Amino acid sequence: MLIKKEKIYEGKAKILYKTNDPDLLIQYFKDDATAFNAKKKGTIVNKGVMNNKMSSFIFTFLEKNGVKTHFKEHLNDREMVVRALSIIPVEVVVRNRVAGSLAKRLAMEEGTVLKQPILEFFYKSDPLDDPMISETAPVAFGWTTQAQIDHVKKEVWKINTLLTEFFNERGIDLIDYKLEFGKDSQGQLFLADEISPDGCRLWEKGTGEKLDKDRFRRDLGKIEESYEKVSKLICGS
Ligand code: ADP
Ligand code: UDP
Repeated sequence: MLIKKEKIYEGKAKILYKTNDPDLLIQYFKDDATAFNAKKKGTIVNKGVMNNKMSSFIFTFLEKNGVKTHFKEHLNDREMVVRALSIIPVEVVVRNRVAGSLAKRLAMEEGTVLKQPILEFFYKSDPLDDPMISETAPVAFGWTTQAQIDHVKKEVWKINTLLTEFFNERGIDLIDYKLEFGKDSQGQLFLADEISPDGCRLWEKGTGEKLDKDRFRRDLGKIEESYEKVSKLICGS
């Protein structure tokens, strides 16, 4: 039986606990919401429960389709069991339409359709505000090997095809999102962290209504309702 042990990390949205199995962690989802590198803080009621449920559903879908993820089991409302990984300190951002920081950086209109997806890498560093880095940086800094980064890129394109279709079928346009990858003790790579409206831009088809954390970032209201809507569209409840 899996036994929850001490807390090893508390982040902005989640807490990680050790377990009696050195290869497994428990990932706990909080209701805390932050934006602009935690300069804006708040709470989204029941977010932890919804994000845990949605992430569990999506990781299961990806696993069924041949993507290796850290997800092992949906334990309870706010907790999932995951593989213990050493996270590569890179936020991999995939963009299917122009939005957010890309729209700002290049003074482009949000929603502009791209001829092909854009892949961007950011260094995971709160003190530095997650600066953008080159695709060659992770190998240059010794965070990964070239083979690992090539593997990550292949996985990302597979994930993007699967997720775009997944959301499409559920009446949602997947605009952009952030992925994280980690290595287990054997050096095998897995998709990690979470996949939820916290880290994805999700626009309702037809209306273009934002159903993601931009509602919190931009004070658009109906935050909980939007997460609930996505949860219903994804999981059916
Ligand atoms: P942050 O660290 O940015 O505040 P969170 O509150 O979401 O973010 O904290 C979760 C942390 O757990 C993140 O730093 C993430 O990289 C890390 N993480 C996600 N999955 C795993 C895993 N399987 N093993 C180890 N660390 C993980
Ligand atoms: N994202 C994230 N965590 C971050 C930065 C970005 O989950 O620390 C997600 C964000 O929700 C969006 C995508 O990555 O879906 C692209 O974000 P962008 O670079 O546009 O930055 P933003 O303007 O959202 O800060």
